[in-house]
Amino acid sequence: MSARAERYLAEIGITVYKRRGFVAEPERAPTAPAEPSPAARSAAEPLPAVETPQAWERLAAEVRSCTLCGLHKTRTQTVFGVGRRDAELLVIGEAPGADEDRQGEPFVGRAGQLLNAMLRAIGLPRSEVYIANILKCRPPGNRDPQPEEAGLCTPYLSRQIALVNPRAILAVGRISAQWLLQTDSPIGRLRGRVFQYGTSGTPLVVTYHPAYLLRSPLQKATAWTDLCMVRELLRKQA
Ligand code: SF4
Repeated sequence: MSARAERYLAEIGITVYKRRGFVAEPERAPTAPAEPSPAARSAAEPLPAVETPQAWERLAAEVRSCTLCGLHKTRTQTVFGVGRRDAELLVIGEAPGADEDRQGEPFVGRAGQLLNAMLRAIGLPRSEVYIANILKCRPPGNRDPQPEEAGLCTPYLSRQIALVNPRAILAVGRISAQWLLQTDSPIGRLRGRVFQYGTSGTPLVVTYHPAYLLRSPLQKATAWTDLCMVRELLRKQA
């Protein structure tokens, strides 16, 4: 690990123990295929006939004016997604919170800063990844997304996944992981493994939500092992 990565980790409160000159990382987990899900299937659909940038602009415009579910009534604005449109890594969260609803960008505020720092520590500044949520509008009071809302909004995310065509996906938080993998398994059982998403088999890794890590700092080291797994996946495919 570079001195810079160690400095980033120290700043966010992660201690990485070393042994014989190597960073202690988890055993490589076997690839575990997930049950195909509606979200996964739609994500595997062929790329739109008209590719970037027109497809991006059309998709963004559709989301901006979307009234498919009741969340359009309470949103300040939609939160489409941000980052590099040909990113190697696609980060998928659950839904906008209050800060995101105000600023129109996913993962801002303290949780966003922690996510940024963890990504930087594996050599991926925020500008190098693409970040999106399952829901593009904030659920009132930060309640969990309802399945009908996620079902109506997922086609937008599926189109984003198809357009970015990432080498790996990082599902951030329980809601995101359970929805993308269509499972009720607790996040503790989902993290630490590599799933294959959609028929394209894009590797998908699950980690804790940074908002949870802010409340439970002892779990930061666990989340760091997930990030290391992502880094390894990207390295192997380089
Ligand atoms: S959450 Fe998604 S489906 Fe619901 S109004 Fe917003 S963009 Fe449309």
